[in-house]
Amino acid sequence: MSKFAWVTLTTNDTYSLGALVLAHSLKRSGTAHQLAVLVTPTVSDAMRDRLKDVYNLVQEVNVLDSQDAANLALLARPELGVTFTKLHCWRLEQYEKCVFLDADTLVLKNCDELFEREELSAAPDVSWPDCFNSGVFVFKPSLDTFNKITEFAIKHGSFDGGDQGLLNQYFADWSTADIKKHLPFVYNVTAYASYCYLPAFKQFRDKIKILHFAGKLKPWLIPFNSQTKTASTPHDYTHAHDLIQHWWTLFCDNVHNVLD
Ligand code: UDP
Ligand code: MN
Repeated sequence: MSKFAWVTLTTNDTYSLGALVLAHSLKRSGTAHQLAVLVTPTVSDAMRDRLKDVYNLVQEVNVLDSQDAANLALLARPELGVTFTKLHCWRLEQYEKCVFLDADTLVLKNCDELFEREELSAAPDVSWPDCFNSGVFVFKPSLDTFNKITEFAIKHGSFDGGDQGLLNQYFADWSTADIKKHLPFVYNVTAYASYCYLPAFKQFRDKIKILHFAGKLKPWLIPFNSQTKTASTPHDYTHAHDLIQHWWTLFCDNVHNVLD
């Protein structure tokens, strides 16, 4: 069994739809590695069962469940709640190396080569390229690192209130230390037009490996006509219509039929 895993997170049944489609996109890419999902207690039992159909590991994580001082101190910082939940990925010590993927990402091609990269490898954020985007990153699970990052979070907070600010503060030399830790942008392409360099999107469309629906509009919120099997792609996403359609095709073929 592979010691490597793709890891995602869901805190509710809606993001779980993203996690399900993501898992099917990974399987379709022919990955040789394990699939793991972190779930909070707010994910329903029925949804967990669906996640168990495709994920090798469905791991419950709870902000309140840990005994160590760092976690307890974090309880005094409720705004870091979801951020903290993502950090639980570092506790998956049964794996040697992992790639974290947001539940709003879609894998379009096999990306198993990512496991050759070291912690912390990630692609630049489109809005501030000296920061990495925390929707896709390579990491090495370690309780020691988990404790260090949570302690850091308590001490310094997060400059954007989320996991991206925190992780960029913690892995502060990402932009300068080692170019191998800069993943090519094709591993985390933002779908939203305002964040997109559209001629490049067109030019490199077939090279995209992972698409990321970062921002407010998630694919599961895009209206979909189940009769004609077409998504009503909003204006801002016209360039990515076929990819939104692809998300929905995966949903219809693999997810919709197993939901109650
Ligand atoms: N997430 C979640 N529930 C939430 C918000 C976020 O499970 O209510 C998880 C999910 O994996 C999601 C990730 O945290 O993909 C980051 O949030 P999001 O993708 O919404 O942020 P964005 O990429 O739009 O900045
Ligand atoms: Mn995201």
